[in-house]
Amino acid sequence: MPKRWRKESEQPKRRAFARPAVVRHASLMNKILVVDDDRATRVRLAAGLKKWGHEVVTVADGKEAWERVREDGIQFVISDWIMPGMSGLELLDRIRSGPAVPYVYFILLTSKTDRDHLVEGMEAGADDFLAKPFDPEELRVRVRAGQRLLDLENDLQVKNQELSAFTSVASHDLREPLRTISTYLMLLQRKYGGELDEQADEYIRFVTDAAKRMSNLVSELLDYARLDAGEMEFEEVRTEELCKELRKELQASIAESGATLTFGDLPIVQANRTQLRQVFQNLIGNAIKYRGEEPPSVHVAAEEHDGAWRFSVHDNGIGIDREHRQRVFEPFQRLHGLSSEYSGSGVGLAICKRVVEKHGGEIWVEPNPAGGSVFRFTLSHDAEAGRGRGRS
Ligand code: ADP
Repeated sequence: MPKRWRKESEQPKRRAFARPAVVRHASLMNKILVVDDDRATRVRLAAGLKKWGHEVVTVADGKEAWERVREDGIQFVISDWIMPGMSGLELLDRIRSGPAVPYVYFILLTSKTDRDHLVEGMEAGADDFLAKPFDPEELRVRVRAGQRLLDLENDLQVKNQELSAFTSVASHDLREPLRTISTYLMLLQRKYGGELDEQADEYIRFVTDAAKRMSNLVSELLDYARLDAGEMEFEEVRTEELCKELRKELQASIAESGATLTFGDLPIVQANRTQLRQVFQNLIGNAIKYRGEEPPSVHVAAEEHDGAWRFSVHDNGIGIDREHRQRVFEPFQRLHGLSSEYSGSGVGLAICKRVVEKHGGEIWVEPNPAGGSVFRFTLSHDAEAGRGRGRS
């Protein structure tokens, strides 16, 4: 039975995912997990690593290793390739399918040192290789290189967090004076509207529009910055219900544009409801906004593909040229200037991308063969694995 039709009692339990703190504690950065079913190798590795000042945790199989990475937040793993139960590659796959923050540096320890195995391991996401039986000096320098990369990664996360905090504070601070401007403009209009000359009325209208645009921009910036704040709660989301709710909310623009908005069978997924709502809201809103000559015809659908849900929002609008299809997902990228017939801030699709990536998925846009665009995004079936591959 496809997952979307599962009874509620069979759905995975509501769960919360505490986003790991971005600033890593020094002791965690220094902790190394050694995974090998061979006791002698574990002991040798641990002895060498301890000698160079690392804290070492040793486990004998992939399953336990996965638990240590998840629960203790260890960022450095040296793992054997072949082990009974979960192999090194399977462990690697689990780690890489999960949150990329914090990044886990992974060294594969193996006697399979031929070119094909090397390529296979690196393709699977290993950062480095260590040939068995290992040479202690080689181990030392490879671990040092990994540590350097983790330090850089951590610095980057700290900078990102600072930038988000700055955006959030700046947006908050901009709101207050904006509210004052809007309030006094409204009073001005109420008290003197029609009494001033035509040009003065027009000027007031311009300023009012600009204040409204700026207020929208600030709100979107805040939404964007908030994506990184606090815990990210996962729960069951009935996407069909969510889209129906949005259809009600968008009633005014649907009626005004004469749009039709239809849905296929939409699944129940594990996601952060507020964030997923933002994604659908932005995609459906854009599909109506960027209309062509014809009234907008928007269809939201989902299908199972490669172990994930693949959602699509089809429109018959103005379409997006090939050369802009990546750029539109970057913040503040608008294909139409700020004063064009289409209002907007250029942050909506960047929010969609960030949210989808935080859920371990991908988002892209394709041309609609019938004219217009199709925005597609994936959401992992497995809530465990789909907790957010994207970086903040
Ligand atoms: P905006 O606030 O400008 O709508 P978005 O980030 O949502 O910002 O979109 C970025 C740009 O991508 C838009 O300015 C528009 O040029 C283009 N775009 C987004 N959605 C569509 C669509 N459905 N059809 C055509 N162009 C689109």
